[in-house]
Amino acid sequence: MIEQNLQRVNSRIQQACSAHQRPEGAVTLLAVSKTFDASAVRDAFAAGQRRFGENYVQEALDKIAALGDVRAQIEWHLIGPLQSNKTRPVADQFDWVHSVDRLKIAQRLSEQRPAQLPPLQVLLQVNTSGEDSKNGLSVADEAGLLALAREVSALPRLQLRGLMALPAPDTDDAGQRAAHHRLRTLFDRLVAAGLPLDTLSMGMSADLEAAIAEGSTLVRVGTAIFGGRPQA
Ligand SMILES: *Cc1c(COP(=O)(O)O)cnc(C)c1O
Repeated sequence: MIEQNLQRVNSRIQQACSAHQRPEGAVTLLAVSKTFDASAVRDAFAAGQRRFGENYVQEALDKIAALGDVRAQIEWHLIGPLQSNKTRPVADQFDWVHSVDRLKIAQRLSEQRPAQLPPLQVLLQVNTSGEDSKNGLSVADEAGLLALAREVSALPRLQLRGLMALPAPDTDDAGQRAAHHRLRTLFDRLVAAGLPLDTLSMGMSADLEAAIAEGSTLVRVGTAIFGGRPQA
């Protein structure tokens, strides 16, 4: 089941890349395994998937430990909100964090990143739909985003790679593309300002085609790989 789903998602990605003149391999698949147990991650791993995204720190730590025998072959990404009292295990255990939205969190991650590990790869989370409930920097505050991006790139144990957004669900393709387009525009401005960014994390099960059309380099897909999650 998971193997077929992965094949289906990978072919959706390939088709979207060719439909939008994106080179093959321009888009990375992050399998979002939140709420699914370690055996589901292991099935996806057996089918060739190597990058996994998790939302909840404790749940993720349990799975990282359960897959300890293949730790060196897996990239673990934290994509959920991060509070300052949870930064240490994240700096210790993860490879990427997509949800950085303030300097204090970035500073703690940099201070706590163990010296023997490579720098933690980070993205700044931007709120592209303007809802109060969502985490992330306001898409309207370009100056604030640029200032934070400069400060985060100066931290010694972090490597700033780009931006992430989690837009409000929009069933309409034009609406999906508009949200992704706002993030892409900000990304291009940061690059034009001299920041060496290469990662645009946008697109999920329902809107990965719209995200790839707008320049996504990394799609975060849960439901289409692992199946439906129980309602929270
Ligand atoms: C759950 C989640 C996803 C995956 O969503 P699906 O619709 O299941 O593909 C992607 N990104 C974030 C931040 C999530 O929380």
